[in-house]
Amino acid sequence: MLVEPLSEKQIRSSFVNCTKGEAARLRLPLDFDELPWDDLDFLGWVDPGAPLRAHLVVSRAQGPLGISLRIPSVRRTSAVKSSMCQICLTGHASSGVTLLAAPLAGARGREGNTVGIYICADLACPLYLRGKRQPKLRSGRYEESLTLDERLARMSGNLDAFAAKVAAA
Ligand SMILES: [Zn+2]
Repeated sequence: MLVEPLSEKQIRSSFVNCTKGEAARLRLPLDFDELPWDDLDFLGWVDPGAPLRAHLVVSRAQGPLGISLRIPSVRRTSAVKSSMCQICLTGHASSGVTLLAAPLAGARGREGNTVGIYICADLACPLYLRGKRQPKLRSGRYEESLTLDERLARMSGNLDAFAAKVAAA
């Protein structure tokens, strides 16, 4: 499902895992007025004012759900470094995928609990799947027999599962 174009107000009020103050202060994408909404199954961006932070807004029947993420200050040593995005399964050179951590919604998040995910570093998964953006230095393109619609559906499923982990307080 494509996202309906969202207003700044809708976006700022959609966040479930940061404070109202943080949601008010975060910076929208620099190209917010020109976003290719027709190609976006979700909105994801690195905060232009805080490069260690990123944000996702997922469209749901109940309204948009915003998730704030950050680059973890301490990398868990058990994490296997991945060069594949866990949302859209695009393979990148290692710098093209970032490990981000989302605080859980509610009290568990305030206690410091997070859920991590490897994701395209620019959070532009829908554009990679549609071929509107190409991964850099892609090593060994792997071919899939899935159609674009099937891959988009898989991406949405992965994102929904991640959002559910964050939002289940
Ligand atoms: Zn991706």
